[in-house]
Amino acid sequence: MQLNYIGNENVVSSSGRTLPVIDPSDGQTFDELQRSNASDIDAAVQAARHCFEIGWQKVSAAERGRLLYRLSQKIAENVDELALIEQRDCGKPSKQARADALALVRYFEFYAGACDKLHGDTIPYQDGYSVFTWREPHGVTGHIIPWNYPMQIFGRSVGGALAAGNVCVVKPAEDACLSLIRVAKLAAEVGFPPGAINIVTGYGHEVGDALARHPGIDHISFTGSPSVGTLIQQVAAERHCPVTLELGGKSPQIVFADADLGAAIPVLINAIVQNAGQTCSAGSRLLVQQDIYEPLLQRLGHAFEALRVGPAAMDLDVGPLIRQTQQQRVWDFLSDAQVAGIPMVAQGVVVDEAPESGFYQAPTLLRDVPVDHRLAQEEVFGPVLAAMSFRDEDEAVALANATRFGLVAGVWTNDGARQFRMARRLRSGQVFINNYGAGGGVELPFGGVKSSGYGREKGFEALHGFTTLKTVAVRHG
Ligand code: NAD
Repeated sequence: MQLNYIGNENVVSSSGRTLPVIDPSDGQTFDELQRSNASDIDAAVQAARHCFEIGWQKVSAAERGRLLYRLSQKIAENVDELALIEQRDCGKPSKQARADALALVRYFEFYAGACDKLHGDTIPYQDGYSVFTWREPHGVTGHIIPWNYPMQIFGRSVGGALAAGNVCVVKPAEDACLSLIRVAKLAAEVGFPPGAINIVTGYGHEVGDALARHPGIDHISFTGSPSVGTLIQQVAAERHCPVTLELGGKSPQIVFADADLGAAIPVLINAIVQNAGQTCSAGSRLLVQQDIYEPLLQRLGHAFEALRVGPAAMDLDVGPLIRQTQQQRVWDFLSDAQVAGIPMVAQGVVVDEAPESGFYQAPTLLRDVPVDHRLAQEEVFGPVLAAMSFRDEDEAVALANATRFGLVAGVWTNDGARQFRMARRLRSGQVFINNYGAGGGVELPFGGVKSSGYGREKGFEALHGFTTLKTVAVRHG
């Protein structure tokens, strides 16, 4: 039985209710979580506030950096355990689970080094004045986390908030809590004071909503779907609470005829099958210049047919989807494609060892997807790649920008001038030229435009969002 972690203690929810923890590889329940309520959130906010007021805000930036670094090292010592937890809880193939745990190490390492490099400015003003700015923490920050990359998103969001001097109340997704509860306990072991990191589990519409509404929360960092992002914004607007929104995507991978296809093909595939396509920055639309459309689809088709899907512990190319409703969502998209007569080029294979009760979906390559079809407009959040062709640069840009999203874009071309033109014209938060970062490195600011959200996490830039700027003007004559 998993308990909430508040003030460095295991705490049972006052609701007396629990939620099952299900292994996506076989659909079986193997643990239980607290189904928390608003009073559990209140207890966590109070613990966080107390921590901030009595001590945390007085800890020097250098000392905060040391603590974050100690946590990064502690996580590094426990990578195998965390990867195993994530493998079972989220159905991630071992390689992916391990990569997530290592990214978490890297986030805390990066933000450890950033703590004492964050500062304000002095501003030239009129004679007789000295004017300067301070970057101050918001105070108690709320973090609402999705299930697809719990450790990575915790690392970038909580790591950045702590580095900037905040304390954190975290609401993980109901399908992916176990690794984060463990990390909060590791933080206590290395010396994070009670209340600095609090974890409260439960449903979004219950406990997530209570977190977003709580008057003691000074900033909300939300990562999740655009529809819930809208709700968070509305709730936060009631009390003018600042919000960072990291939402969905329908990211294009654009391949020009002069591209190095040998280099591109494995990256194009990984960008859609990594984490079974359940990635906000998945390269889910493939835009190909018409001269190479047929040969590229043929090569990709062979590669898709070779992809193997199975239980997380088998560590194949693709693991299960997170839950049955997600599997049903992908099936609905695929049956819509069939009804619309969208041709399927190829599919991977679910191995015989995969239990019937697991949530598997073979990677699927579709072609000639009309730009206005929902497969070209909406997030599937599964391993489904929608291909279409374009004539020239102008049409590529028009197609790429023709969704409500703008998170990431990939461009494959060896024409240097075109690389820059495309990077300028694409409306997205990140552009990758001749590579595709699927979210990119820890150091790279990340976030969207349009319905992909606003504000930036990752990199040094994130620290600006986790602080508020105070201007001090001294008149000394
Ligand atoms: P979701 O919006 O359903 O849930 C995200 C979190 O919000 C969960 O913790 C959930 O419990 C909580 N939540 C749900 N309803 C709530 C409410 N009414 N009030 C407060 N909290 C609530 O999203 P998901 O299905 O967990 O994740 C998939 C989505 O997340 C996709 O759209 C994906 O693109 C997006 N995502 C974005 C990024 C990014 O950085 N841009 C990263 C990962 C995932």
